Amino acid sequence: MAGVTLRNVKKVYENGVEAVQDFSLEIADKEFVVLVGPSGCGKSTTLRMIAGLESITAGELYIGDRLVNAVPPKDRDISMVFQNYALFPHLTVYENMAFPLKMRHFPKRVIDEKVTEAAAMLDISELLKRKPKALSGGQRQRVAIGRAIVRDPSVFLMDEPLSNLDAKLRNQMRMELVALRERVQTTFVYVTHDQIEAMTLGDRIVVMRDGVIQQVGSPDDVYAHPANAFVAGFIGTPQMNLLPAELRCTGGIYSVSLSGVSLPLGAEAGRALAERAAPPQPVTLGIRPESVELLSAGARGLPAALSFAERLGGSVNLHAAFGAGELVLSVPAERAPRAGSALTLGLPPEAIRLFDPQSGASLF
Ligand code: ADP
Repeated sequence: MAGVTLRNVKKVYENGVEAVQDFSLEIADKEFVVLVGPSGCGKSTTLRMIAGLESITAGELYIGDRLVNAVPPKDRDISMVFQNYALFPHLTVYENMAFPLKMRHFPKRVIDEKVTEAAAMLDISELLKRKPKALSGGQRQRVAIGRAIVRDPSVFLMDEPLSNLDAKLRNQMRMELVALRERVQTTFVYVTHDQIEAMTLGDRIVVMRDGVIQQVGSPDDVYAHPANAFVAGFIGTPQMNLLPAELRCTGGIYSVSLSGVSLPLGAEAGRALAERAAPPQPVTLGIRPESVELLSAGARGLPAALSFAERLGGSVNLHAAFGAGELVLSVPAERAPRAGSALTLGLPPEAIRLFDPQSGASLF
């Protein structure tokens, strides 16, 4: 068992691409950390450096307290699962799973024990005699995970392991990974571009963009307090509304003006803004779709008109046009008004986030 520490790790490829810049992170023993971000942000490169499949241009990488920059992959005590399962087609499920142990000359009895145990854990005991071509995509991915588990690695690395599966199977495997994680007491580093996977699997998530860490935190924390407008927009579906507004302060009371409607801010926001802001100033107002309230006609709020409703079954995303733009709110299906309806929207002070329109950094 071991944690993983990256100190100022950098990767520049031979073609000059700076894939990862100054990456520092301490992953605790048995922690499940998810690297998430759009395609090309440097997630896989980071994972491959931990695995030893990619050299490190600068910085230090420790597994446990051992500096491993120059240690070959096979001596790092890690296992890796890739998007394409890379099973041997001519070997049975049993032989595929036994392979890494055979390579390490484990006794037959031990191999048998470990493969049987892993197969039971992954619910593939019935499939041990089959060849990969006789398996579904989900079953193949389970075998690939099984092959990684049998080695009892200190660190388990997974690179988009579910992205080849269809949506339903992906949801199912995601839940199985949550259960697996309870049973396999090891450190996980998991790469995905899918923010839902990141939110549901990670103890902590690391949001990356252009090779740079944007934020590290628990899923709840990142969701509630995104460090900048990029994270705010990336984590959450439908995404957080980001609207141009103006911050004001009258008699020590902070408010934000959106299309001429003044929205009061809470005392907590006031304390934070007293240090960071110089009103009046333009800001980007952020609010999650589920936080926007549908008020009764005549209430004090933001007047808007329903442009269209996106029906999702149990809930509906309402696209509402107001003076300067459009925002999305999600409401239970039974509360959805008719298209064209006039709406009055409530933006609760505690749900409002503010960002600097230039840098994107969070002001509150
Ligand atoms: P992600 O996993 O987030 O999609 P990658 O780590 O694969 O991102 O890639 C990060 C950046 O490095 C991208 O700009 C990509 O084009 C570049 N890159 C990845 N692998 C190589 C390589 N072997 N040689 C040169 N550039 C690479």
